[in-house]
This record gives sequence, C-alpha cells and structure tokens, in this order.
Amino acid sequence: MRTPLIAGNWKMNTDSSSAAELAAAIVCRAGEVTDAELLVCPPTIYLTQVRDSIGDAAVSLGAQNMYHESGGAYTGETSVSMLNDIGAKYVILGHSERRHIMGESDEDVNKKTHAALQAGLRPIVCVGELLEQREAGQTTEVIRGQMEGSLADVTAEQISSVVIAYEPVWAIGTGKVATPEQAEEVHADLRKQLTERYNAEIADTVRILYGGSVKPDNAETLLGQPNIDGALIGGASLKADDFLAIAAAGAAVVQA
Ligand code: PEP
Repeated sequence: MRTPLIAGNWKMNTDSSSAAELAAAIVCRAGEVTDAELLVCPPTIYLTQVRDSIGDAAVSLGAQNMYHESGGAYTGETSVSMLNDIGAKYVILGHSERRHIMGESDEDVNKKTHAALQAGLRPIVCVGELLEQREAGQTTEVIRGQMEGSLADVTAEQISSVVIAYEPVWAIGTGKVATPEQAEEVHADLRKQLTERYNAEIADTVRILYGGSVKPDNAETLLGQPNIDGALIGGASLKADDFLAIAAAGAAVVQA
C-alpha cells in the first residue's frame, strides 16, 4: 500500500509570524498521524523559518516552485541546489496557477522535473483540465498531453520519486470538489498511463494526489478511492486543524 501524502500548498499566504505559528501548530500534533506523510509547502521566503519550526518532527518540507537552471543570472528565481541546501524534500511543479497565470508550459515543467530529479528533490507534478475542456469531453486527452510533455524522458528508475497531482482547475479554490467518481476515473487513467509507459509494478509505486477544494468533510471519500494516494491542499492547509483532520482521514483509509 502506498503511504498517503498529505501536502499543504500555502501559496502566497502567511507572513513570518503566521507561517511559524502554522508550522508549530501542525508539528505539535503531527505525532497523532502515523499512517500518512505530512508535507508543508510555505512561500519560498519562509522556507528556512518553517524548517526551523519543524525541527526533527515528522513533517516534510517542500517548495512551491523552482527554476531549472543550476545558478547564475536569473533574477528572482530559486535553484534546486538552494532548495536542497535549506532542507526541502519536495517541490510542486506546474501548479495550475503557474501554468495559467505565469504561462508555464509542459516543456518548462519537464525541464524543472529533470533538474529536481537529478538533484534528488521529489517533484510533485500537477496536471488538470479547465472547466471548458471537461465540458467538451477533452479531460483524458488534455491530461495525457500534460503527462507526456511534463514527464518526457523521465526514466523507470526516476518515476518512483515523482508524485503526480491531479487538480481539476475548476475545483481549485472554488469550493467545487470533483466527485470521488470523477476523481477516481482520472486517477485510474493516470495509473494506466504509467503502466503503459513503464510497467504495472512501477506504476503501482507512484503516488497520485488529488487536489481541488479538499476539506475535512470530503477527504475520507476522496482518499478512499483506490487510485487516490493523498491530497494537495490549498485553502484548508492554512488551518492546522483542517489540515490534520484531512491527514487523519488519509490515515484512517490505510488502517481500514
Ligand atoms: C491547490 O492549491 O493546489 C488547491 C488544490 O487549492 P484548494 O485546496 O484551495 O482548492
């Protein structure tokens, strides 16, 4: 069984004191969640502060983005070696806000994915369709295209370190959650794609997260789907109680 990954994407929220407080509130009760991996992804500027709040607690640290080049004249960017240096373990890549607001392409996501993997950082590669694409019956085609582009040339040895996040764009920050059936249909197809590209045994090791208005009251049914291996959480990750309640729902599924 794949250990669920419960990942909080704090986006461009918190300040130095609220980031430290939120991390401390999560750390304080992290020991209650034994069957799920907890991950927090604060804004880049607060990564070291949150790392210090985490200390040696069982909470992983991740970044929300990075640049693919290793260093040099790239004003405003953060390299993978910088993320490694401060102790990040994961990096979210190709979040829909980066794809649709900042104009990131599958090619950009692919370059970042390779840079992260080469440096030993685990990429969380996000894919997801727009509402009009779903309504036009293009969901599978859109997601297959994003997977092919974003994961081009990722080897069988590397793919187990990759986490995929399916985040329907229409469900992010909108309160409109995909039904467990809608989410599972896409997750099952993602697993099938991984099986086609690699093999069933390898596909089985890859964690596929669902993201899009995950809250404590819908977490258990979503996380109970056979191909949903955790959650990428925006809004609800800013409240320690909600984040931990979602993690408890993930752990309950493992224990069932
Ligand atoms: C996200 O930020 O990836 C996300 C899914 O946000 P929310 O949970 O707020 O919909």
